[in-house]
Amino acid sequence: MRLNIFWDQLSPEGLQLPVGRMIASVTGIPAVVVENPVRIMGFVNARKQIDAQVQLDHLAAYTHQHRMDDPVLLVVTQDLFNPGHSSLFGLAREQEGVAVVSTARLTNEFYGLPASDDALIDRLVTEGAHEVGHLLGLSHCKNHECIMFCPDTLDELDGKKKAFCGSCQKLLDAQQQCRIDQI
Ligand SMILES: [Zn+2]
Ligand SMILES: [Zn+2]
Repeated sequence: MRLNIFWDQLSPEGLQLPVGRMIASVTGIPAVVVENPVRIMGFVNARKQIDAQVQLDHLAAYTHQHRMDDPVLLVVTQDLFNPGHSSLFGLAREQEGVAVVSTARLTNEFYGLPASDDALIDRLVTEGAHEVGHLLGLSHCKNHECIMFCPDTLDELDGKKKAFCGSCQKLLDAQQQCRIDQI
């Protein structure tokens, strides 16, 4: 298995390689970053946000059409929402192996702070690996430092380590072993 990261052309330049490398190292899955081939869909003008479900529908249709079995993580800049959530850092659909993460609320600038590529890389890795964790079958975790903890705020996101806690890592290892056994 390998993780495909679709990097939208509006997403910050120069962060692809460190983000891809670090997500691969956190999840233990090799990652390839390519320019996003999928159209950005679901923009709602009144909200200036993208409906993440519509974008995932479109991404899933693309991976199905191209017979891609490996998980795909799409990185976009537009702010995300879905029915029931006024904003989202990201969203994953495990059954279809697709996830989306937005840089909009991961930048310091969004909160009126000085720009920092390092902070943005860290947050993209934490949030990206979280969504990949969902694609690998993991649910949310109560451990505030674990990648699979679901943060409501940027402070909670920044409080997480770039690692799965012991019990989430065990689940991940068991699932990967399962996949190897099936081959
Ligand atoms: Zn989650
Ligand atoms: Zn955990």
